[in-house]
Amino acid sequence: MTANKQVRSELLQGALKTEYKTVYHLVKHYCRKHHLQVQSHANTLCHACSSLLAYAEFRLDRCPYGQAKPTCNKCPVHCYKPQQKQEMKTVMRYSGPRMLLSHPILAIRHLLHERRPVPKKPMANVSNRHIRKQQ
Ligand SMILES: [Zn+2]
Repeated sequence: MTANKQVRSELLQGALKTEYKTVYHLVKHYCRKHHLQVQSHANTLCHACSSLLAYAEFRLDRCPYGQAKPTCNKCPVHCYKPQQKQEMKTVMRYSGPRMLLSHPILAIRHLLHERRPVPKKPMANVSNRHIRKQQ
């Protein structure tokens, strides 16, 4: 995966695409402060962070809630594997509060989203992946 492709997801649509963008900025911010010593390219991530971001995209694509996806910390489905879950938690803890300054619109959107009720149960066949495969 090349650096520029990471900014936008080619797979995701709608709210999931926006969520991916939010995650991208969170991971990028964390990577810049913790991993990358040289800021070679504006959109470059280290190998570990690239993998984590690719994993997040993979999970968003398969989220059974699809476009009705609740925010991850409210979600009753625990879809992340323990290792990635821990990595993402670390990233969120660091970058989350800083997003208000660097990307206020994405950050506020996420905070508002967090206050919405969680859908009781995912509907059948609404994941991004399912819809993508039908096209
Ligand atoms: Zn990194």
